[in-house]
Amino acid sequence: MLEELREQMLAEQAEQIARLQLRNEIRTAGLIIWGVLLLGWVIFCFVKLMKDLHNSESMKSGEIAFTCETCGASFQVSADSLARHPFTPVKTVRTGRTIRQSRRLSCPYCRKKTWCRQDMAQSYQIGMGSLGEAAGKNLFRFLIGALVLSAAGGVFFLALNIIF
Ligand SMILES: [Zn+2]
Repeated sequence: MLEELREQMLAEQAEQIARLQLRNEIRTAGLIIWGVLLLGWVIFCFVKLMKDLHNSESMKSGEIAFTCETCGASFQVSADSLARHPFTPVKTVRTGRTIRQSRRLSCPYCRKKTWCRQDMAQSYQIGMGSLGEAAGKNLFRFLIGALVLSAAGGVFFLALNIIF
């Protein structure tokens, strides 16, 4: 009689441990899937934002003044064409709190490929303009997606705790 009871208790204990182990495994798998989804969403939104920045009106119509460091002539380059060549060498000089940038461009006056100083105020204005155009809807979409993912994760883990 006593032996039977003891065996029954042991069996119940083993069953409970197995159940807890299964729950932990499901929870771990859920966390990994959830993390991958969240990361995927962040990357997706980032790519979308970059695309929208490129296609913004400010970027398409904006022009930035450059000054050739060899001959001193000034010329305009469209922000669009700068965005399409993101790998042109850039030199950044920081004096105090102001940052100056030069890019290696072909000067249309002296025909040399040389460092040309970029007008930072114009660049800043165009950057902020296109960010303003693109940020609104992208931020909203990102937040909605993050909210949905958080809610789905919350429901999943809550359900897991109720079932097990
Ligand atoms: Zn020049």
